[in-house]
Amino acid sequence: MTAPQHDYDPNSMPVDAARTRIREFLTPVTTVERVHIRAALDRTLAEDVISPIDVPGHDNSAMDGYALRHADLREDADVTLKIVGTAFAGRPFAGTVRAGEAARIFTGGVMPDGTDTVIMQERAKAEGDRVTLGAGAKAGQNRRHRGEDLQEGQVVFARGQALGAAELGMLASLGIIEVGVFRRLRVAFFSTGDELVSLGGTLGPGQIYDSNRYTIHALLSRMHCEVLDMGVIRDDPADVEAAFVEAAKIADVVITSGGVSVGDADYVKQILDRLGKVHFWKLAMKPGRPLAFGKIGSTHFFGLPGNPVAVMVTFQQFVRDALLYLMGQSGAKPVPTFAARLTAPVKKAPGRTEFQRGILSRDDDGEWTVKPTGNQSSSILSSMSLADCFIVLPEAQGNVEPGASVQVQLLHGFG
Ligand code: AMP
Ligand code: MG
Repeated sequence: MTAPQHDYDPNSMPVDAARTRIREFLTPVTTVERVHIRAALDRTLAEDVISPIDVPGHDNSAMDGYALRHADLREDADVTLKIVGTAFAGRPFAGTVRAGEAARIFTGGVMPDGTDTVIMQERAKAEGDRVTLGAGAKAGQNRRHRGEDLQEGQVVFARGQALGAAELGMLASLGIIEVGVFRRLRVAFFSTGDELVSLGGTLGPGQIYDSNRYTIHALLSRMHCEVLDMGVIRDDPADVEAAFVEAAKIADVVITSGGVSVGDADYVKQILDRLGKVHFWKLAMKPGRPLAFGKIGSTHFFGLPGNPVAVMVTFQQFVRDALLYLMGQSGAKPVPTFAARLTAPVKKAPGRTEFQRGILSRDDDGEWTVKPTGNQSSSILSSMSLADCFIVLPEAQGNVEPGASVQVQLLHGFG
């Protein structure tokens, strides 16, 4: 092992400060389109949804059993009642249940007039048209109340709500066919670098395939953006400038990879200073130290580092949240972290937040443990594939010993 490099720059920007600065510049989309709820998965609501009905629409049974009047039951002895009818789900019992009577009822069946309580069938003994019920039932048990899920006139979802499977089911339960959602974000992206070859090309000496474009394409697709792949752009000022001008015309957001490290940044910075307002940050983080962010006209710009792992880390830590906000999801939460016990030592220099790649497991006691993937170089993309979480090591943290509790952030649905 080589000694950790102390390349900490005391003037570099902390991760949280960068997040805050980015947020200040974001202008969410406002255009609304109406879509069928089948097409609304992972879209963002552009309007409040008010419930047109009560759900459920009637008091109904939570169990298969017998509907009756609780007052007929006894606390100290069995009671036998007369069965006067049946309430199926979707086929209510038309009559009234009187004192001394019960109705057979199935889950979802409307509570017949006169009844207030359901005794599950496992607690009842039926013989012919009689049913015997034990002592100790609670009044109102196994009865679902009209409107207990949603009430007519209630705001069911507020503007900005992300629509997932549960939300779409709820909309359907209200009879709502179409909803107003914000239009999809248009996100353009390109890679920069003379060493990059697009898929299908032949590798010359010192050249590599462009992988970042495919990673970014995948990450944006997962987020249901409209993706605009602008290819590889040579490290040539005229080409880079033309690419930014084009991206600003066609997209809400442009994401680039490479070309923001010291040296490269100089000419990219000159171009962007002419076209818009862009900051080049040295972040107090690893990987992902250089990051550019700003606006070219009304188009938001993220200049990610070139290293493939740094691309994924900076996307997850900055771009993801920003895109959600731009899509109109004002209340989107950051990716949650939780504690896991480290099973191997971790080298860490204080002064920057590190996102090391980790593999989670559960030990025999059911506790979550995490093991680093090994080589943590930001060029080792296989470390992202092996990993199922980031081990998030805060700025002040130094080396960490096995057995210590560390925070991890799941890559689930991301990597
Ligand atoms: P840069 O930030 O342009 O200095 O690039 C840093 C490192 O990432 C270099 O080793 C590049 O070759 C590599 N790199 C940059 N862009 C890509 C890409 N699109 N795909 C794979 N590797 C890349
Ligand atoms: Mg480069």
